[in-house]
Amino acid sequence: MEFQEKTISVIIDEAKCRECETKACIAACKTYARGILVLKDGVPAVQGDALRLGTECLACEYECWFRGKGAIRIEALTPGLEEYRRKMGIS
Ligand code: SF4
Repeated sequence: MEFQEKTISVIIDEAKCRECETKACIAACKTYARGILVLKDGVPAVQGDALRLGTECLACEYECWFRGKGAIRIEALTPGLEEYRRKMGIS
């Protein structure tokens, strides 16, 4: 499952979630953000408009790595970064 917030993409490997006993991402989202992650059919699902309500707090990813199964990957694209790295010789 994948969803977008304003400047990030959140990618969740649901196969790992089925084995997860804590579902820590759900509580983290409710505690530190606006609770857009909910449990549906045993896996996380988005409730509401993530583009508008998402706070990009990264709490779900943190909690998943420490208390879940490492199923969440967040990508934050930085436009121009690759060009800058090439220009600076750090690619
Ligand atoms: S904490 Fe991670 S592994 Fe567990 S349900 Fe949430 S995303 Fe899936």
